[in-house]
Amino acid sequence: MEELKRAACAAIDEHRDAIVGLAEKIWAHPESGFKEHETARLVAGFFKNIGLPCREGLALTGVRAELKGAQPGPGLALLGELDAIILPGHPAADPVTGAVHACGHHAQIAGLLGAALALSRPGVMDKLSGRVILMAVPAEEYLELEFRRQLARENKIRYLGGKQELIRLGHFDDVDLAMMIHTGSGRKASLRTSMNGFTSHYARFMGRASHAGEFPHLGINALNAASLALQAVHSQRETFPDGQHVRVHSIIRKGGESVNTVPADVQVETMVRAKTIEAVLDASRKTRRCYRAGALAVGGRVDVEAMPGYMPLNDCRAMAEVFQRNVRQFVGADSIGESGHMASSTDMGDVTQIMPATHPTLGGAEGNSHSADFHVVDPDLAYVVPGKVMAMCAIDLLCGGAGLARDIVGKNPPMLSRSAYFRMLEEQAISETHDYMEDAAR
Ligand SMILES: [Zn+2]
Ligand SMILES: [Zn+2]
Repeated sequence: MEELKRAACAAIDEHRDAIVGLAEKIWAHPESGFKEHETARLVAGFFKNIGLPCREGLALTGVRAELKGAQPGPGLALLGELDAIILPGHPAADPVTGAVHACGHHAQIAGLLGAALALSRPGVMDKLSGRVILMAVPAEEYLELEFRRQLARENKIRYLGGKQELIRLGHFDDVDLAMMIHTGSGRKASLRTSMNGFTSHYARFMGRASHAGEFPHLGINALNAASLALQAVHSQRETFPDGQHVRVHSIIRKGGESVNTVPADVQVETMVRAKTIEAVLDASRKTRRCYRAGALAVGGRVDVEAMPGYMPLNDCRAMAEVFQRNVRQFVGADSIGESGHMASSTDMGDVTQIMPATHPTLGGAEGNSHSADFHVVDPDLAYVVPGKVMAMCAIDLLCGGAGLARDIVGKNPPMLSRSAYFRMLEEQAISETHDYMEDAAR
């Protein structure tokens, strides 16, 4: 097995410069979620170059290839995320779109393609059982909601996250376990335990426009309604259970039209996060109650749309240990840490709800993710090592009749069946209107 891993890693070493070059090319051409057409084209081109047929345009921009072992067995998905974030203040941000890989997803793609190279080296898959599914996945970052809601209205997507869409479309139906490696700063390697899930909300407060100086008494101030609603949310915080890491955070998308007119249309976006889905639903219910309170106080109206966000992440410890065993030789045992519970969210959480999956981090970057100072400083650790580690994990999991993969799948039944998972998502999709405008004021 060690010999097999060495052969697989040698394939990556031989193409080290090409892998680094590809990562740098993606860094230089960042694209945000469901718009990663050029990045996807690069991935598909790479797969084809190494003789791997692939399917493109999955959930709009996803790319999927498959390697078969000599014997049947479980399907292991290796994932890499295609999308950038929007951060116009970053020095490497695209001047037109503001997109930048300040979450390091370009490095994930380098890792995925490295793993593809390593595992397609002749002789490697012959020793393995089952299948390795290589998936470049769209839209992990939850942003540009207006654009994505429009895609949903056009029936091009239903859920706003890429992995959720791939699950919905059946691209995970033949997958039994999954892994990806995120890039980070700080420790050279880190295992994850759990992450918050979330629900997202769009609230539109409606009032009545009127001259703000002359006739404010004839208006209904939608900004006051929104402001009261946000204050009401703050008053809920003491009711959020300790240990649930509840986060409720909002932005005002639209605050009015002009300062001399009473605002009549104010739009607020809110994310509600927590460690368990029950705590997410509880805080979501309270948030919607607060929206209602704001509208009631001013005698206005509020239209609320709650949309399913991402599910909490529950990392599979047995898979994380496979990562840990293989990453040690690259970073040293002392450099591997544990992130504990994280209050951020990812649609990899959705994957961990329906199958054993792991989402560890490898270093190579500096600065905080999603910050203007985030950039890769160690291309080997960020771009080259992840491919080697994923290939080595695949070999461990699928060699010897895929005994380890079968054992992990057997001992880690899904937290949710696929149907329960979809039910859970649909339960979060709520559309409601609360109208407190009095007749005289309409
Ligand atoms: Zn991110
Ligand atoms: Zn990320």
